[in-house]
Amino acid sequence: MKTVNEAYYKKLIEKFGAKNQIIVAIEELSELQKELCKYLRDKTNIRNISEEMADVEIMLEQLKLIFENETPVSIEKNYKLARTYERYLKD
Ligand SMILES: [Mg+2]
Repeated sequence: MKTVNEAYYKKLIEKFGAKNQIIVAIEELSELQKELCKYLRDKTNIRNISEEMADVEIMLEQLKLIFENETPVSIEKNYKLARTYERYLKD
């Protein structure tokens, strides 16, 4: 399924290049990690966490376009959710 913002993300990848966007994805993942650590130390707030989660979601969408793997990601996600359900939630 195409995301609403796919054309926008493709323009960003075209403008800045796939390699650059992969680097930005790594940076954004790091920023979310930092905010989550700060949350556990009572040093941040939900607004900051929300901002970093949004950044990561934006970059994940671009990674799926760069690696052309939206379907494999979706299959993995469904498989893992089903496996977790079987292991921990069934009954
Ligand atoms: Mg960020």
